[in-house]
Amino acid sequence: MRKIVFLFLISILFATTAHAKVQVVTTMGWIGSLAREIGKDKVEVVSLIKPSQDPHMIEAKPSMIVAVRKADILMYNGLDLEIGYLPRLIESSRNPKVQPGNAGNFDCSRYVTVIEKPETVDRSMGDVHPLGNPHYHYSARNVANIAAGMAKTFSELAPGDASYFNANLAIVQATLRERQARWAVHHLKGKKFLSYHKYFEYLARDFGFSIVGYVETKPGIPPSSGHIENLIEMTRKDRPAGILVTPYHGTKEVAFLSHKTGVRGIVVPHDVGATPAAKDWFTLMDQVLGLLE
Ligand SMILES: [Zn+2]
Repeated sequence: MRKIVFLFLISILFATTAHAKVQVVTTMGWIGSLAREIGKDKVEVVSLIKPSQDPHMIEAKPSMIVAVRKADILMYNGLDLEIGYLPRLIESSRNPKVQPGNAGNFDCSRYVTVIEKPETVDRSMGDVHPLGNPHYHYSARNVANIAAGMAKTFSELAPGDASYFNANLAIVQATLRERQARWAVHHLKGKKFLSYHKYFEYLARDFGFSIVGYVETKPGIPPSSGHIENLIEMTRKDRPAGILVTPYHGTKEVAFLSHKTGVRGIVVPHDVGATPAAKDWFTLMDQVLGLLE
């Protein structure tokens, strides 16, 4: 009898481990979207941030702690973008899997060559990018590396599904190649833009355009009236192709500048779900590049 009960318990344990999905928690929506592409029906994904929110200014909530507590893996942007809430969530969750150094703590920025990396870390002036530019997700090469990192890590967490994750990675890589060929027709090379925030530097690098000025005086620091006056003068003289702004912050200031100078403001979705058309990372990029063109 004891043997039968033992075998019964073993079979239940086996059944749950064999069919259990990897529980994924991400900060931003684009990370969750990419995790879904790699994990498909072997993962369950929850994203903590809504696409209407400013990703620099998120506050920790009890519901987020509950989500992180249940996670097998926590995937985040890194480069201190989540410094205001994520360390607290990780600590309060008391979930050993997602603690720094463990496989369930997935910092996407580890797979990226970071630009605008300062010589020394300095938050004294309120700069919200102390470790370099954290907005690397508008770049196919960065996303390709992160996708490969996701497939590798999911395979470590669920070794039985490794070939499934690698097959999904191959699909993502093929779609990336197809999209890069399609995006090559965009004529952005040599164009000049003004931008509210330092959000588009990786995109500018990949597509050969330049950002000639910023509405913020420093990343995270709103403009002074003197700075706005200088920008109006500069914009009237240099006539950039547009003033780029994300939907969550700075649209009023950009509308004012646009009104004063006649240079159009371009509201660019910053994350998956920020507009109805940005359903995943690929359609987000389709829309971003279409708007800039
Ligand atoms: Zn930023």
